[in-house]
Amino acid sequence: MNKFLKFIALGTAASLMALSLAACTSGDQNSSTGSTGPNDSGSASLDLVSEGTLIMGTNAEFPPFEYQENGEVVGVDAALMGAIAEKLGLQLEIKDMAFESLSEALSGGTIDIIAAGFTIDPKREETMDFTNTYFTAKQTILVRSDSGFASKADLEDKKIGGQTGTTGLSCAEELTAKENIKGYNNGSLAVDDLLNGNLDAVIIDNNPANEYKNQHGDELTLITDQFEEEEYAMAVKKGNKSLLDAVNKALDEIKADGTFDEIVAQYIK
Ligand code: GLN
Repeated sequence: MNKFLKFIALGTAASLMALSLAACTSGDQNSSTGSTGPNDSGSASLDLVSEGTLIMGTNAEFPPFEYQENGEVVGVDAALMGAIAEKLGLQLEIKDMAFESLSEALSGGTIDIIAAGFTIDPKREETMDFTNTYFTAKQTILVRSDSGFASKADLEDKKIGGQTGTTGLSCAEELTAKENIKGYNNGSLAVDDLLNGNLDAVIIDNNPANEYKNQHGDELTLITDQFEEEEYAMAVKKGNKSLLDAVNKALDEIKADGTFDEIVAQYIK
């Protein structure tokens, strides 16, 4: 249920551009490098922060895509990047940081790639290059079950929270004034404030929304299908074509050999 999973093999930059419209964002679409050209360069020639290692930046507060378990970052993205690193003959290192710090870490050269349930968005495309897509998501509204709210129209001028820097908060901007919007370090803190009565709604991607619903049961209600679909992809530093092509090729391979499906099935029930 609620799995908006699609397996999209994007062969051309044109088709990637067609999918580059993220929900709740506006602005010019830039052309994006989504090439799946052959990677005949070995991993030794890849432009990496540290030779032999692929450093992935994420925010491990986004289950089931990334979360902490026994002191380790696990989830769909960690497992996918583990499989991709293996295909490239690289060690995977995961740096867990605030979601809003990821873009700066990428442009500042402390990570090689963002893998964070990260939505392709025209604004982000100005400063980074996205890989081919690997997952389709939708923003979901969480409300208290006793609120009576049933659609986004009910949230006009209401207090809405979400994770700082996310597309969920861009969606909130469509519904309520900026001063009614509160950003949190992670979705879980926003949900706490919703349950405490400090917020009227939280907007977050559908899979984490399902996790919060499972945790809190009858107290929370999900309002689904209110926003456009979004596409998740990994992101590399703008212009790092060798890494982009290598990751796209590895992603194609793990889709073709069944590894991708296995990973998704392991984390998304
Ligand atoms: N998909 C959302 C975004 O890219 C949220 C991602 C996240 O919180 N990890 O903004």
